[in-house]
Amino acid sequence: MSSTPDPDCLFCRIVAGDIPAEIVAETEHTVAFRDIFPQADVHVLVVPRVHEPDIGSLAAADPEVTVALLAEARRIAEVEVGGQYRLVFNTGSAAGQTVFHAHAHVLGGEIHVPLPG
Ligand code: 5GP
Ligand code: ZN
Repeated sequence: MSSTPDPDCLFCRIVAGDIPAEIVAETEHTVAFRDIFPQADVHVLVVPRVHEPDIGSLAAADPEVTVALLAEARRIAEVEVGGQYRLVFNTGSAAGQTVFHAHAHVLGGEIHVPLPG
């Protein structure tokens, strides 16, 4: 639950540059990179530099970084797909979360996963 980088966390290691990724953009608070198994024409992950296990934990611990992450997701979607996009935050393994470092999935273009509802 700490925001200290976790040496066993995949996304902390990508943020640190220890594991390669196709980086899209970096800001003071966030790093964005392409998902290795894209589920849409555009599938970018936006992660905070700090380690928090999910978006709710991040929001509780650091509202400023949470807002920065949302703003960066919007900016990337504007650049990549003209601003029409789906933003997904899986939280918990039962909901499909597999990497326990908060991240936004920015999905745009043709999306290969069904819409809820
Ligand atoms: P989650 O299932 O936790 O919501 O999302 C984790 C995402 O991370 C998945 O969509 C998965 O494809 C992606 N992913 C897993 N390992 C890597 C990796 O090493 N590099 C990149 N770029 N994406 C990864
Ligand atoms: Zn982490």
